[in-house]
Amino acid sequence: MERPLGFIPTMGALHTGHLRLVRTARADCQRVLSSIFVNPLQFGASEDFERYPRQMEEDIDVLKRSGVDVLFTPDAESMFPPDFSTFVDVGSIATSFEGAARPNHFRGVATIVMKLLGIVAPDALYLGQKDAQQTAVVRKLVRDLNVPVSIRIVGTVRESDGLAFSSRNVYLNEEDRCAAPSLYRALQEVHAKLLNGHPREAALQGGRVALSPHAALEYMELVDGDTFRVLPEMRPPAFIIGAARFGNTRLIDNIWISQ
Ligand code: AMP
Repeated sequence: MERPLGFIPTMGALHTGHLRLVRTARADCQRVLSSIFVNPLQFGASEDFERYPRQMEEDIDVLKRSGVDVLFTPDAESMFPPDFSTFVDVGSIATSFEGAARPNHFRGVATIVMKLLGIVAPDALYLGQKDAQQTAVVRKLVRDLNVPVSIRIVGTVRESDGLAFSSRNVYLNEEDRCAAPSLYRALQEVHAKLLNGHPREAALQGGRVALSPHAALEYMELVDGDTFRVLPEMRPPAFIIGAARFGNTRLIDNIWISQ
């Protein structure tokens, strides 16, 4: 059944991945609303909040052409006035992997998503599988707090060499850009080995070998698709997740194993 209002939250610097979310919502919903807000709450003190790519004019143009009906671009002062003091904490799922590497990141994500859902009151929320742990955090938040919205997860859009589109890809220099697709290749290697019946550790080792020596691996793991707890063996639904640094740029990617 067609849903009345679909919502796509973004931080702007739009790319082909964002546009797949818009197209999916466009096909499902009567009205499509997108937001652009670079959320200060989800960046750590040493992270790239200040230099995060911002290109509002271009983004507005792209969204208009892609059939978004309403664009919401709040400013930081109105979202987080000086007396703002309420935060959403989803518990242990927010403390592993991305949550461990970026303390308070998911508290920032959960809080802004809750605020945006309160303001927009959509029927359907569109999220990218690219940010796998974020999708699990938001699904948990919606379930735990009985938020009346359905969630649709949209598959990751990639460059022809496999690199997932990301607003942060603009930070990659030539050498980093050449090495960056090896993150996805490494995850594919893990997947192939698991499918061939290799035990988890052997599969992960295969992935580590497939990663470019130019990359600094932060983690590569097989995790439960809902809880993000490490799985000792392949048991769908699951994600193979990875994070690595290419030069100064930290990239994440994943493969979803539904069955
Ligand atoms: P961001 O602007 O990075 O906060 O992303 C906004 C939404 O787009 C999130 O739900 C992301 O998961 C999603 N997204 C980001 N990159 C991709 C991609 N390559 N393919 C599909 N969705 C994506």
